[in-house]
Amino acid sequence: MNQLEIKQLSFNKAMLLYEEKKFYKTFSKIISIINVGGQILMIIFLFKNNMSFLKHLLSFGIAYILADFWNGLVHMYMDNNDKYDGFFGPFIASFHLHHKTPLYKKKPVLLVYFDESGSKIWMAPLEILTLLLVTKLSIFLSFTLMYFFILSSFAELSHYFCHTIDGKIVNFMQKIKIILNKKHHAKHHVCDNINYAFLNGMSDPLINIIAKRFYKGYKNDTDKHYEVYVGKGTENR
Ligand SMILES: [Zn+2]
Ligand SMILES: [Zn+2]
Repeated sequence: MNQLEIKQLSFNKAMLLYEEKKFYKTFSKIISIINVGGQILMIIFLFKNNMSFLKHLLSFGIAYILADFWNGLVHMYMDNNDKYDGFFGPFIASFHLHHKTPLYKKKPVLLVYFDESGSKIWMAPLEILTLLLVTKLSIFLSFTLMYFFILSSFAELSHYFCHTIDGKIVNFMQKIKIILNKKHHAKHHVCDNINYAFLNGMSDPLINIIAKRFYKGYKNDTDKHYEVYVGKGTENR
């Protein structure tokens, strides 16, 4: 068995676990609840404090840039991750299927926001920590973190819009690049190892340099691991 066949086998094993064991779907639901619940709690707690409109604008702007960059980096790391055997293996394998089938099931946007927040495992401990420390952090930092978490979840919606919805408002926001532009994002699927950012893609010039330096790309690597996979896998989307 060559290296590719070994990887394909462990990919299929991981996907079998993901499909058969209820644990993985339940785990994602719990992460969704923590992430979205945490954001709601932050909104309730933080908006009791006064902060000037200008500071809100600055805080939102910083969070916007950070969310685009950080989520792009996580996407880059995940797309190039082939460790299918460990605890996170089934999540990694199912993540790769967004290249195989970049189509989503159409559903209400709030439900997409909730469901897709379940894939952001890294965010749950950060939100818990922020909520625990919220009285010790400055108001400005707390708001910036709150915006960062919300925009990180919203980035998933921005990606969803690229693959599903066509509407006047969405198309306009894509055109002026407030959200992810379709043409810009299409390059991620057509080309290799580029355009990982998915809030609006502004940090891609920087992420593309990092990706080129550290990874050889997904087209001839992780994208080949699902070539012999025949399961459903994407039923979650
Ligand atoms: Zn990708
Ligand atoms: Zn996509």
